[in-house]
Amino acid sequence: MVLVFAEAQNGTYKKSALEAVYFGSQTAAKLGTSCKAVVTENVDNAGSLGQYGASEVISLTGLGSFDSQTFAKAISKVAQDEGANVVIVAHSSAGKSLIGRLAVRLNAGSVSAVNELPEIEGGSFTVRKNVFSGKAIAQYQLNSDTKVLSLAGNSLKPMASGSDVSVSERAAEGGASRVEVLEVTKQQGDVAPLPEAELVVSAGRGMKGPENWGIIEELANELGATTACSRPVADIGWRPHHEHVGQTGVAIKPNLYIAAGISGAIQHLAGVSSSKCIVVINKDPEAPFFKAADYGVCADLFDVVPRITEALKKAKA
Ligand SMILES: Cc1cc2nc3c(=O)[nH]c(=O)nc-3n(C[C@H](O)[C@H](O)[C@H](O)COP(=O)(O)OP(=O)(O)OC[C@H]3O[C@@H](n4cnc5c(N)ncnc54)[C@H](O)[C@@H]3O)c2cc1C
Repeated sequence: MVLVFAEAQNGTYKKSALEAVYFGSQTAAKLGTSCKAVVTENVDNAGSLGQYGASEVISLTGLGSFDSQTFAKAISKVAQDEGANVVIVAHSSAGKSLIGRLAVRLNAGSVSAVNELPEIEGGSFTVRKNVFSGKAIAQYQLNSDTKVLSLAGNSLKPMASGSDVSVSERAAEGGASRVEVLEVTKQQGDVAPLPEAELVVSAGRGMKGPENWGIIEELANELGATTACSRPVADIGWRPHHEHVGQTGVAIKPNLYIAAGISGAIQHLAGVSSSKCIVVINKDPEAPFFKAADYGVCADLFDVVPRITEALKKAKA
């Protein structure tokens, strides 16, 4: 059986939860078994995960705010009770903090940030992930009875085909937390958080200063995109740290990545090179980013970015 931890926020499943459940159900089909989802929040229409292939949704009650220790205990208990041999989480901040704990509790082999469905042949179970800053693909064969995987965001498009399924409530057995959560501040607004974003507008040191970011925000607004930045820009405080993408920041895989005034250093590319379409705006024709770009605009960003925004406004009108 395949068990998927489906993350939710504000009463709705996250996009990464739909991806993980779809990935789980496809894996279960390959194994000739079923896929169940476990959810730890009150979700409107919790059974809708059936549309993505879950045969049942288990709603765990009494866990409260996210705490990797108690959540790992509770989810591994469900995995043991259900006899799960594959456990899947999203490669989100919650998933990243759960995968190691789940693997230890379930005595499982684990691979994080898997980005393709496993290859299952006879008794062998092989998964793939990007390594060396996206320059190579590694293949891992998991030989343990139980396997724990985290799924990299935007690795596959979840298709809704089934129908809603039943939801069973269960009291979570996570025990008391050793961590007291004093305050939770959630991101406001409608745009997707960076790891889940399909459209991203990003900028770097070429912006000259934080006061110029209005043109980036306007373009992002017009597209419904999430904003991002290069590391130095976050380091010097022009932008918040959660916007920093790259080797030491968030790794993203959007459908569209627009980079303005970013040179394209290897450490930046490490986090963005899996984007499906990269548009680079840079006034230096030698900027390394052009080598990774699908479309390049060699010009002054202060001229080009507002013109793209204007063109989008006109096209919408
Ligand atoms: C261990 C390590 C980890 C790192 N991790 C990361 C990471 O995760 N993410 C990351 O981003 N960096 C990371 N870095 C830093 C990285 O090496 C680069 O220094 C950084 O990405 C450069 O940022 P930038 O492109 O914004 O700035 P710059 O390199 O200064 O580039 C600015 C670019 O803007 C262009 N420009 C200037 N004015 C204009 C204009 N008016 N119009 C158009 N273009 C213009 C310039 O031609 C230039 O190409 C890391 C470095 C190290 C050593």
